[in-house]
Parts: sequence; C-alpha cells; structure tokens
Amino acid sequence: MARLVLKFGGTSVANLDRIRRSALHVKREIDAGHHVAVVVSAMSGKTNELVGWCGEAAPLHDAREYDAVVASGELVTAGLMAIVLQQLGIPARSWQGWQVPIHTSDAHGSARIQAIDGTAILNGFTSGEVAVVAGFQGLHKDSGRITTLGRGGSDTSAVALAAALGAERCDIYTDVDGVYTTDPRVVPKARRLDRIAFEEMLEMASLGAKVLQVRSVELAMNHNVKTFVRSSFEDPANPSAGTLICAEEDIMEHHVVTGIAFSKDEAQLTLRRVADKPGIAAAIFVPLAEANINVDMIIQVVSDDTTTTDLTFTVPAADYERARAIIEKARESIGFATIQGNTDVVKVSAIGIGMRSHAGVAARAFKGLSEKGINIRAITTSEIKFSVLIDAAYTELAVRTLHSLFGLDHAA
Ligand code: ADP
Ligand code: ASP
Ligand code: MG
Repeated sequence: MARLVLKFGGTSVANLDRIRRSALHVKREIDAGHHVAVVVSAMSGKTNELVGWCGEAAPLHDAREYDAVVASGELVTAGLMAIVLQQLGIPARSWQGWQVPIHTSDAHGSARIQAIDGTAILNGFTSGEVAVVAGFQGLHKDSGRITTLGRGGSDTSAVALAAALGAERCDIYTDVDGVYTTDPRVVPKARRLDRIAFEEMLEMASLGAKVLQVRSVELAMNHNVKTFVRSSFEDPANPSAGTLICAEEDIMEHHVVTGIAFSKDEAQLTLRRVADKPGIAAAIFVPLAEANINVDMIIQVVSDDTTTTDLTFTVPAADYERARAIIEKARESIGFATIQGNTDVVKVSAIGIGMRSHAGVAARAFKGLSEKGINIRAITTSEIKFSVLIDAAYTELAVRTLHSLFGLDHAA
C-alpha cells in the first residue's frame, strides 16, 4: 500500500464525462489498495475566462481580488470530482487551499508555496477517504487572503502535496501520454520520452514546453518526488506509465539534444546608435531590473561609425510596453538615436545534458536554420541549452528543422 498524488489538468476535467473518466483512474489506484490525494485544475478554458473578466472589469485591478476570482475554477472541479468518486462508492471530500491549509507567500498571481499541513488529509486516509484538493491556490496566512500560484500552477500544487504527504509517486495526468521531444501538436514526428532528467525538464518548461509548470519541476527535483506525466485519456483499466522525471544518473541513454522548446512569450527591443562608453549597459538594464522586468537575450553590435553601438535585448511579451516606456524615459541618460520593437518573434531552444560534452552543437543548428532561410535575431547559450530568436512566422519550420537535425524524429 502506498500514498499517491494524482493530478488532473484542465482537459482531464473539462466536463462531467471527462471527470468520470479521470475518476476511474483514481478508482484503479484505490482498488489496488493505495491511499490517494487528487489535485484538480479548473475545467479547460475556465481560468482564461476568469482572467478575461478581471481585465474587462478594470485593466489595472487589485491582485488580491484577481486571485479571489481566478481561484474559483478549481473549487467547482474539486467538488464535482468528490461527488463523482462518491458515486463510484469511494469515500471522498473536497479541500480548498485554505482548508488544507496550503500556506503561500503574498505574491498574488504568482505566489509560492511555503508550507503544507498534510495532517487532516492523512487522517482522512486512515478511514479510506480520498482527498480532492483544489489546485492552483493557497492562503497567505498573515492577511488571510486567497492566493494563486501562477498559470499552470496545479502541477506545483500536486508535487508540493506529494512532498508534504511523503507520497511514493505523483502522477500528472494530462491530454498527452508523456513528455515528448517537442510539442507533439506542432511536430507530429515528436517522440515520447520514457525518462527525462530534472535539469532538462526544468529547461524545457522554462523555455516554453507548458506540459509542466517550472516550479513543479524545481520542487520534484529538490524533494526527490517521483513524478510521472501520463494521459487521462487512456483506458483506465490499461494505462501506460508515461514519462518519469528523474535524476540524470537514472537515465541510461543520452542524446546530445533531448528536446526542442519554443516560446512566443518574447519581445525584442533594439536601441540604435547607443554611445559606446562605460556605464551604458547599466543605464539601460538597471531601470528595467528595478521594474522587475527580466531581460533575457542581449546582443551588442558595434555600428559602422565605431563610436556607437546597436543593442538588442528581449523581455517577456507581457512587459514589452512597460520596458519600452522605461527606456524612453531614460533616453537622456542612455543617449540613443532610435528605439525599435518587435513582438512578432519566437525563441526556439534546444536542450540536452549531452551538450556538456559535445562542442559545436549550436553551430550545427545555426547552419541548419540558415539553409532554410531563417534569420537569427539573437542567440543565447548555456551549459545544457541554446536559444535563438527568430521571426514568429518561422516557428514551425525552425522547430521541425532542429528536431530532425538532432535525430529526434521518430521512424515513420
Ligand atoms: P493540463 O491542462 O493537463 O495541465 P497543459 O495544456 O498545461 O495540460 O499541458 C499539456 C500540453 O503541453 C500538451 O497538450 C502539449 O500540447 C503541450 N506540450 C508542449 N510541449 C510539450 C512536450 N515537450 N511534451 C508534451 N507536451 C507538450
Ligand atoms: N487552472 C489554472 C490555469 O489554467 C491552473 C492549472 O491549470 O494548472 O492556469
Ligand atoms: Mg498545465
């Protein structure tokens, strides 16, 4: 007998039929004698709708009330899942974040889990009760207010709960049967991975593969939670294991590149003819940092006259207008001729632990992309990944090109 956490994402609880099917996966584990805590997302599309309503109500709204609104989606599915489980003869009750309680920071809209008290849920296990926990939400203890964990945050709720309960496994049920070499909806030749290392999954998630929230991977890595990504759409009587996120040592076979990720959440800013003298980079990037804007890629090109330089950098698309305004405001102290912006860009990245021991991987990619006529606007590299910024129109072509170039296509 083991303790398990099963998480069901938006498409796995999209309507009552889907909730019933997901409940059969819970039933299978209960019938096998396990103790189960379930974490649910809101019905797919619901959180987007709630977020949209907040924006319509007031573009600049109170973040605490935003959380009060968007946390509601998970309350509905938690209750419905408990009802459906009871209907199957399984004792179950729903738990809202504050009831568990799941304590978080007060960063409304992207709060961090600080502590989970699993006592009440573990008590329920002794009488065979399934706990159905609303994902994505928590409580800030001092203010007594509801918080949410950032989009995709139910993954993090599930892994954190698994750590708190000392669960043997955390199964993330979604609409694909595991982690693939790239988004299988974009590249039909993508291959499912049996295993992927924590570090690689962290990079994949932070570079755009939305199958797991980044923080859930961090938690799984730090607390050594055995986490699987698997499909709720499969026959509950005959499920496949999915993909295990695990330590690097537990993977036998290493490829140079394990996966390709892409993110449209990027915007590019270029300052033309910036004075080429000490202190300029600080004049640009300090105000952005103070405004909590994350600058990612940076390239500096000395212009023809050699006394000035062109500087290109990227920021999250959501911060584009703010970043532009900050730079305009600091125009005097920076001193540049013009500012140009582009939100129609995408960052495509290749990730693989094997890159540590192979030189020239990025260079092969640049060549492959140029042969397809794809212009690279900016580049970043680090130990186990490299990223290129390109025009959004070339996203699919670039992802497919890199996917085959690094031998990731499945055999036809
Ligand atoms: P859920 O609602 O269950 O949390 P998400 O939509 O958040 O599901 O994540 C699942 C989706 O992630 C898949 O439908 C798939 O399109 C996308 N995805 C992106 N990259 C990958 C990848 N490398 N492997 C698997 N799925 C991926
Ligand atoms: N419902 C939330 C969202 O759409 C959390 C989640 O699904 O993980 O972001
Ligand atoms: Mg998700």
